Amino acid sequence: MLAAAFVRVSTGSQDETSQIKVIDAHAQEHGFTIVKTFKLRGFSASQGTQEPALREAIADIQRGDYGTLIVTESSRLDRREDLDAQAEILLAIRSAGGDIVSIAEPEFGKTDFTGRIVTLVAQQANAEKSKTVKDTTYRGIMMIRDNRAHHGALPSFWATKGVRYAKQAYCTDPNAITDIYERVAGGESLSSIGRAYNLYPQSVKNILQFAAHHTGIIECSYTHQGRTETWPHMVTPVVDSALWWRANRVIETNLTGARAHKGGRPVGRPENWLSGVLDCPACGGKIYLNAGLTPAGRPRTPKLRCGGYAKKRLACGAFAGIDAEPVIDLIASMFASDTTEILAFQRIAGNAHELDALNAEARKIQARFSVTEDDDEFDALVAERKAIKARIEGFVITPDAYDYAPTGQTVAEMWADGDTAVRRGMVRAVKAAWGMALSAREGQWEIVIGAAGAQSTEETSGIIDLGNGLCFRR
Ligand SMILES: [Zn+2]
Repeated sequence: MLAAAFVRVSTGSQDETSQIKVIDAHAQEHGFTIVKTFKLRGFSASQGTQEPALREAIADIQRGDYGTLIVTESSRLDRREDLDAQAEILLAIRSAGGDIVSIAEPEFGKTDFTGRIVTLVAQQANAEKSKTVKDTTYRGIMMIRDNRAHHGALPSFWATKGVRYAKQAYCTDPNAITDIYERVAGGESLSSIGRAYNLYPQSVKNILQFAAHHTGIIECSYTHQGRTETWPHMVTPVVDSALWWRANRVIETNLTGARAHKGGRPVGRPENWLSGVLDCPACGGKIYLNAGLTPAGRPRTPKLRCGGYAKKRLACGAFAGIDAEPVIDLIASMFASDTTEILAFQRIAGNAHELDALNAEARKIQARFSVTEDDDEFDALVAERKAIKARIEGFVITPDAYDYAPTGQTVAEMWADGDTAVRRGMVRAVKAAWGMALSAREGQWEIVIGAAGAQSTEETSGIIDLGNGLCFRR
C-alpha cells in the first residue's frame, strides 16, 4: 500500500523529525510504503496556510499516486475554527478514494465518518458564537499590545490611568511599597505588615513578588486561539534590585520547615494569653479563663475552668476550676525574668543569593533592551550586561548554611513587648517543648513545668521552638 506522510511544525518547540519517525514506524508496522512526504514548516494550521498542500495531496490521490495520507494526529491537517473547510478537506480526500490514517486517533475517519461530519457541523454553531465575542476582545487586546499598554492583574498600591486601549500602570504609593520591602528584608512577618497596611498576608506576598517593582517592565500577555501574545509594558521602578532581591530571599527562607507556623488556632475570646492553653486534668480538654462580669454587673473572680474540646466546648464537670490569678502570676513571672536570648532561623553563610541578584540584574537589563530606543542608552545597557555576565561567569558559590542566630532580643523583652497572641505563643511553645500541666498535690492544684507531658523531641535538645523561625535554647 502506498501512502504519503503529512508533517506540520507550527512552532519551534514541535519536532518535525519526531513526527516523521512516528509515521515511518507506523508505516512499517502496517505495510505502508511512504512515497511522498509533505513537510510544512512555520505554518500554523489555524491560519489555514496548509491548504495548498492538502489540495495537492487530493490531486495525487485522484491520480492514484497513493491512497493514504498518514498524520500523527488530526490537528496536523487542520486546526482552523472554520469547520466547513475542515469537513470539506476530509470529504474531499474520501471522495477522491483516499483514506486518512491518524496514528494518535485510530478511529479517525474510519468507524463513524459521517457521524464526525455531523458533529463538526453541530460544533460550528457554538464555535461561531464564541468566536465573535473572542474576536472582538482580541482586536481590542491587539490595540493594547500595539500601544504597549497595560493588560492584566496588578498588585496592591498599583493602578492604571489613561484612555481605553492605552492604559498606563503606575504605583499609587511608592513609599508604602519601599517600606514593605524594607520591613520584609528586615525580618518582619507578612501578617504584621498586613496589619499595618490592611492587607492579607498573601497580598503582601504578591507585592513582593511583582518583578516590575525593580525591573520597570510588566510582561503583559494574552492568549487567543492557542497563541500567546506577549508584550512589555514600561513602568517606573519603585525599589532597587538589591532590596527587591533581599526581601524575596527572606520569603524563600520562610518556606523552610523550620519556619512552620506553630501558633495554634485562634481563640474566640483572646482576653488572656493563658486562655485555651492548659489541658484539663480531668478530661484532657482545654482550660479557659472565666472572667468578666456577673449578671448583676460585678466583676467575677477570674477562674480557670474546663472548656472541653474545640468543637463541642462543653465542660466535663469533673474539674471544678481554680483561681486564675496565682497561675497567671507564676507563669508571667517566669517569662518576665528570663534573660535567655531569642534566636532566629536564618542564613549564616553562603553567597548564592548574590548570584541570584546578579541574574536578576541581567534579566532586568534583558527586559530593558526591548523598550530602549535611545542609542546611547542601548550602548550603556550592552556594556552593563557585559560587565554583569563577566561577574556571573566568574562567580564562585559558597553553599548556603542556615542556623539559629541571636536576634538581640531576650525572652523577657519579647514577653514585655508581646501582645496576647505573642504571649500565648510563648506559653504554648514551652508547653509543647517541656510540658506544662496542672497537677494536684496534697489537695492543692499547682502548675508543673517540665518532665510531664512533653509532646516533642525538642525537649532533649533544649530548644523551645516559638514558631515563625524563632526559638530559644536552654
Ligand atoms: Zn475537663
